[in-house]
Parts: sequence; structure tokens; C-alpha cells
Amino acid sequence: MGSDFYCDCVLSGQIPVRIVAESERVLAFEHTQPTWQTHIVVIPKEHIAELIQIQDPSLFSEVFALLSRLIKERGFATTNYKIITNGGSYQSTPHLHFHLVSGLPLDPANPAQSGELKV
Ligand SMILES: [Zn+2]
Repeated sequence: MGSDFYCDCVLSGQIPVRIVAESERVLAFEHTQPTWQTHIVVIPKEHIAELIQIQDPSLFSEVFALLSRLIKERGFATTNYKIITNGGSYQSTPHLHFHLVSGLPLDPANPAQSGELKV
């Protein structure tokens, strides 16, 4: 597993991202290397390594409230969307993150877009 891209680069401000939504503890921004027509990343602002490390159940609510808001605002419920999170060896950076994707994969030949998205 690589370094913590989200703490080291995104939350630190080292790599600028285009923020699309945010709440007190959750940040949503456009993926820096999108692999779908719409590719948004949603992360907790505090360091949490992966899904099973969430201690505070209200953080689940906050994450999914933000995802739900984005889906509604962008009309994805009438087109398409999926939410992906990786764990174990699928996870390429040790900070919990959700991919919200919609539309078509940008490279359908890429096996990573079959459901094993990295970063
Ligand atoms: Zn982190």
C-alpha cells in the first residue's frame, strides 16, 4: 500500500483539488486522475485508514448524506451512478475514500474499471 495520498497531498493542500461539496467532517472533490466521465472522491477530513476503522457511527451518516446530496443535485438517480470503496489489497492509499462515479468509463479496456478501481 502506498503513502497516504489524501492526508499528505489533498488535505494538506499540497495538491490542489476542485472541491464539489463538503460538510463539517467530509470532503468531496473531483478525482485528480478521473477514470469515469464523472469521478468524485469523498473522504473524511480526519485520518481514517479504511471503512472498518470508523469508530463514530455518525460519520457513516455524514459520508452517505454527502454522497446522497451529490447524487440528487447532479440527477444521477435518473441516469446512473455507483459508489466504490476499497479495502485490503484493493486499497492503494491508506485513507478511507469513496469513489462516486457516473456515466461511462473513460477507458473501457482498463480492467481497473470493472470494479477494482484504485485511488
Ligand atoms: Zn489519512
